[in-house]
Amino acid sequence: MKKKFCKKCKILVKGDKCPICGGNSFTETYYGLVAVIDTNKSKMAKELDITIPGEYALKVR
Ligand SMILES: [Zn+2]
Repeated sequence: MKKKFCKKCKILVKGDKCPICGGNSFTETYYGLVAVIDTNKSKMAKELDITIPGEYALKVR
């Protein structure tokens, strides 16, 4: 199965709706992947404005 990401939140979605916004607008076209485990310690999380741990795409289309 291909990885899919929420177009809005850029988070990796495993079910049929986004765990953050609850939306179902996904894309399989993405660039880069970043895993955020601790949002407080991750510099990347701050830069990307991520507040919920998970896997994120750097860019989606
Ligand atoms: Zn979302």
